[in-house]
Amino acid sequence: MIHSDWHIHSEHSYDASNTLDAIAQQAQAQGLRFVGITDHANFNDEKFIGDLHSSAVGVKAAQEKYPFMVLGVELTPIEKPEFDYIRQHKTREGYVAPTLSKPFAIELAQTKEELIALGVRYAIGASHWRVDVPNGRKLTPDLDTCIKEWYRQQMWLACDERVTILGHPWYHGKGIWYEDFSVIPQSMHLELAAALKENRKYVECNSHFFCSAKATETFKHQYAAFLRELFERGIPVTYGSDSHHEYGDVRSQVEPYLTAAGFVDGDIAELSQDDLW
Ligand SMILES: [Zn+2]
Ligand SMILES: [Zn+2]
Repeated sequence: MIHSDWHIHSEHSYDASNTLDAIAQQAQAQGLRFVGITDHANFNDEKFIGDLHSSAVGVKAAQEKYPFMVLGVELTPIEKPEFDYIRQHKTREGYVAPTLSKPFAIELAQTKEELIALGVRYAIGASHWRVDVPNGRKLTPDLDTCIKEWYRQQMWLACDERVTILGHPWYHGKGIWYEDFSVIPQSMHLELAAALKENRKYVECNSHFFCSAKATETFKHQYAAFLRELFERGIPVTYGSDSHHEYGDVRSQVEPYLTAAGFVDGDIAELSQDDLW
């Protein structure tokens, strides 16, 4: 059912160790048609932009041998005041978040023009942390607050021109909703689906939801059903292993849940040439 992988991190990412050669060889062993390299560009500072440059140079060289490799990027919402601070000071060091009475504006590390100039063909937009919850920075986030903030970020990503694929929707590293995915209101799923559809975005089936030791069986089935609902509303679903280390084949841990939710071979999408930059 899964024939391409659009979300892989290479050693050019600050947090990953896969070499491009190892990724390509594993892809060939799996018979994948395409692999997308999407290293992190979290902030607009020298470190992250440097990583992105070396990812672009590395992938360009690897493509001579492995034409099925595609250069992408993973972008994540950051606070606009921090983005502005980095632009001015060239570093994140010394940044103090201002106290605001409303949520921070969101920014991404690079403009579309900057990404295209590097040869990037598409972007995964994915939430990783709270940008801000007013007056709540030092409080332990409660479930409702987190869900609302995740919803805000994902709706923003669904409407941003840089985002090709909404990556790991509703991923939360702290795992506070891994027990029961139904804590997220259906109305949010419907709004998100409408925004993704209207803006012609893809949505990602990320392997971590199905491979995580924290995820219960119930959660995995609920999550696959959520992806199926998006699919049936006309939003193409891509697959992303989101591998950082020792790239391997985890499709057999994902596909049974997709099958149970109603997916058949041919349903999992590839990025079309028209949607690549
Ligand atoms: Zn991510
Ligand atoms: Zn990732």
